Amino acid sequence: MSNSNVLIIGGGASGMLAAIVARRNGAQVTLLEKNPRIGKKILATGNGRCNYTNINTNQNAYNQPDFVFDALSQFTASDTIDFFEELGIAPKIEDFGKAYPLSEQASSIIDVFLYELEHLKIKILTERSVNLIEKKGDQFTVLCTNGETYHADKIIIATGGKAMPSTGSDGLGYPIARKLGHHVTPIFPALVKLKLESPYLKQLNGVKISSTVQLKNNHQVIQEETGDILFTAYGISGPTILDISRKANEYLNQKINPTINVILLNKLSIEDIIKRFKKSLNKPVDFSLIGLVNKRLISALIKEAGIQKQNMLVSELNEEQLDKLINLLFNWEFKVIGSKGFEDAQITAGGIDVSEVNPHTMESKIVKNLYFIGEVLDVDGLCGGHNLQWAWSSAYVAGKNASQRGRDD
Ligand SMILES: Cc1cc2nc3c(=O)[nH]c(=O)nc-3n(C[C@H](O)[C@H](O)[C@H](O)COP(=O)(O)OP(=O)(O)OC[C@H]3O[C@@H](n4cnc5c(N)ncnc54)[C@H](O)[C@@H]3O)c2cc1C
Repeated sequence: MSNSNVLIIGGGASGMLAAIVARRNGAQVTLLEKNPRIGKKILATGNGRCNYTNINTNQNAYNQPDFVFDALSQFTASDTIDFFEELGIAPKIEDFGKAYPLSEQASSIIDVFLYELEHLKIKILTERSVNLIEKKGDQFTVLCTNGETYHADKIIIATGGKAMPSTGSDGLGYPIARKLGHHVTPIFPALVKLKLESPYLKQLNGVKISSTVQLKNNHQVIQEETGDILFTAYGISGPTILDISRKANEYLNQKINPTINVILLNKLSIEDIIKRFKKSLNKPVDFSLIGLVNKRLISALIKEAGIQKQNMLVSELNEEQLDKLINLLFNWEFKVIGSKGFEDAQITAGGIDVSEVNPHTMESKIVKNLYFIGEVLDVDGLCGGHNLQWAWSSAYVAGKNASQRGRDD
C-alpha cells in the first residue's frame, strides 16, 4: 500500500482538520479554497470567541442522530479538546459545557491551524473556486473557475453549507455533488433570528430577558427552551430562539405561521400572581408589575391586555382585563412571520443526503474515494459548539480513511 493523493475542496473548519489528519496519516494533501484566506467563518464563530466544542455533546444534539453517532464516537469532544490543546489552545469551559479558547479569540484557532498546516507542508491554494469534479477510471479531475485543473486519487468535499455566504460557503458544494450523482435534501436556514408580527417590537427593541419560550402550532407545543431571549426591531433573537428556529422554519417552509409563546414568569404559579394582585388592589397596574418583569415590557403588556390607562388601579380592572394580563405573563403569544435568512444564519439545515454516505468513513456510497464532511451534509446541530464538533468529527474520520490506499486502489 502506498500513500494516497488527497485533494480537499474548502479550507473551512472541516477542511483544515481533515488536511492535518490525512497528512499525519501519510497522504499527500492539497487544499483548495476559494477565498484569499482559509478559515474565514471561524473568525465569526461564538461572537468572535469560537465555541469550538461542547463537552456534553452527543448524537441527540443533531438532526441525524443515527448517522452522526459513529463519527462522534471516533472523534469525541474530549478528542477535540486534546487535539487543540496539542496545537496550543487551552480550553475554557463555560455554562452548558461550551468550550472556548482561553484566549477568548477565534483567531487563535486559525493561528494554530495555519502553523500546523505549514509545519506539515500541506499545499494550500487559495483563490481557487472549484466548480466541477469529474471521475474517469480511478482518477478525479477537479476544475476551477480560473481554468486550472487538478488531479487526485481521493477527494474530500468540505465546502460548507449556505449560511453566512459572505464567509465563502455559498452553497457551491451542492451542484458539484449533484453532478456526481448525489441527492441534496431541501436546504433552509437554521440557528437564525426570527421575525415576528407585533405592534410592540419598536418599544421592546433591545430588551433582554431570561424566560421559557415555546414554539407552538395550533396551540400545540412543538418545542420548548429556557434561557436568554432578546427582543429586536424585527422580532426575536438569543440562544433559545436560535435553537427553536430550525423547527419554526420547517413550518414556515410549509406556509404555516407558528407562534412563539413567551412564559415570562417561569418560576412562579398563576396562584402566586393572583395573590400578588390581591395585595396590590390600591396600586396602579403599571406599578404592580414592577419587580416582576423587565420594566420595558410593562407598557406593552398593559396595552396587549386591553387596558387603556397604564395607571389604572388594579381594583378598577374588570375580570377580563385581569385574566388577560395574568395570561400574558404566562403565555405572551407572537406570530412568527419569517426568519432573517441565510445571510444571518449560523447553520444550514438540509444538504447531501446522508443515506448516500457511509457513516463510518464519510465516503460516498455512490462514488468510490469521494468523501463529504461538515455542513455540506444534511447534518445540523443545536447552538453551543455542536456544529463545529460535527465539522471536526466528520473531518477526522474522512481524513483518516482517505489517507489509506486500499488494495484495489
Ligand atoms: C456567525 C456564525 C457563528 C457560528 N458560531 C459557532 C460556534 O460558536 N460554535 C459552533 O459549533 N458552530 C458555530 N457556527 C457554525 C460553524 O461555523 C459551521 O458549522 C462550520 O464552520 C462548518 O464547517 P465546514 O468546514 O463544513 O464549512 P465552512 O467553515 O463554512 O467552510 C467551507 C469553506 O469552503 C470554501 N468553499 C466553498 N465552496 C468552495 C468551492 N467551490 N471551491 C473552493 N472552496 C470553497 C468556503 O470559502 C469556506 O472557506 C457558526 C456559524 C456562523 C455563521
